[in-house]
Amino acid sequence: LTPSELAAVRADFPLLGRTVRGGRPLVYLDSAATSQKPNVVLEAEVEFYEQRNAAVHRGAHALAEEATEAYEGARDAVAAFVGADPGEIVWTSGATAAINLVAYAFANATAGRGGAGSDRFRLDAGDEIVVTEAEHHANLVPWQELCARTGAVLRWFGVTDDGRLDLSTLDDVITERTRVVAFGHVSNVTGAVAPVAELVAAARRVGAFTVLDACQSVPNLPVDLHALGVDFAAFSGHKMLGPTGVGALYGRRELLEAMPPVTTGGSMVEVVTMEATTYAPPPQRFEAGTQPVAQAVGMGVAAQWLDELGMEAVAAHERALAAELVKIAEIPGVRVVGPTDTVDRLAVVSFVVDGVHAHDVGQVLDDRGIAVRVGHHCAQPLHRRFGVAATARASASVYTTVEEITAFREALSGVRAFFGAE
Ligand code: PMP
Repeated sequence: LTPSELAAVRADFPLLGRTVRGGRPLVYLDSAATSQKPNVVLEAEVEFYEQRNAAVHRGAHALAEEATEAYEGARDAVAAFVGADPGEIVWTSGATAAINLVAYAFANATAGRGGAGSDRFRLDAGDEIVVTEAEHHANLVPWQELCARTGAVLRWFGVTDDGRLDLSTLDDVITERTRVVAFGHVSNVTGAVAPVAELVAAARRVGAFTVLDACQSVPNLPVDLHALGVDFAAFSGHKMLGPTGVGALYGRRELLEAMPPVTTGGSMVEVVTMEATTYAPPPQRFEAGTQPVAQAVGMGVAAQWLDELGMEAVAAHERALAAELVKIAEIPGVRVVGPTDTVDRLAVVSFVVDGVHAHDVGQVLDDRGIAVRVGHHCAQPLHRRFGVAATARASASVYTTVEEITAFREALSGVRAFFGAE
């Protein structure tokens, strides 16, 4: 992004104009947790409620028709944005719900609660689910639960000392027993981009499904799910400049056709008698009850906003910011958890400061108006792998400037002296 493009982008985000902690300009470096929202997204939600609010899909009136158009139009926009067909996009409340939906569909099929074709989702005791040590808990705990319910066995790839997935064990970890390979596209801790093609090829060789946690990639990289060839993918609206409360599960059409529902009730049925129910085709089969309609509309607008800016430009900006962020590894006493190079990574960097607790690091930065996240970032195993309980994490987005990262580096340089740790 040129300086004038970036200035125009920032002008579109009202929150970025505010000050914190006694008038300091906000330096928001917590976009991996949740992004800020451009005006068009905020306006789309208000406009929906002011002009179109109605129950979708069933009303026989003009408003219901307009609401349905806005809602399905958002599905079209999100699908186009990630290289999918609209029928392959299931609205969920977020990535966590999307991954749980897939995992519990396997559990239901295994319990005999699946319809035609659902055998593909049935697990036998001893079948294997593969994850990685770098996963967000959202892409780990649901698979642990599935194993506990079905007798399947959880296996995983480890992480190298520099924070990349260790695929040297590929042929040991992915075997004839593997049924699912679930992994994050981009780590929310290290920013490392996973070798998707290699993992998809390995899963395909043994006939396993792939589930991509695309939470951190969809906002910052061009993502074409058909081209990547994954079977399922999950992402959240609130991390890609959209509202909270909405996200999506992508599933290849023929797999969604065969997948049993998880949440049942209204709107996901065809014929209901007192004895039995037949289910609607996807995506409606997975969208029981009233959906987050205004939020979905906002997510669609966010996808269009990013698309108009151009994801190649967004990714280039992200690379430039990543190069600035990793320079913190040169500050004495600062240790980056994960890769410090600029290859195959995004602008997400977690770190520890020798002799200073992560929460204290966060507080000193906060006093200067700099917002970072501290803790385990919902990735305890990865933190355990690096022998730390908590890190501080700085993450950027399309509206982040180099000047903000410079301010962050300068503030971080003074942290050890502040605590007398030098
Ligand atoms: N996976 C990754 C990699 C994430 O960063 C997050 C959010 N921190 C999630 C999954 C969960 O997303 P959500 O909380 O929006 O469901």
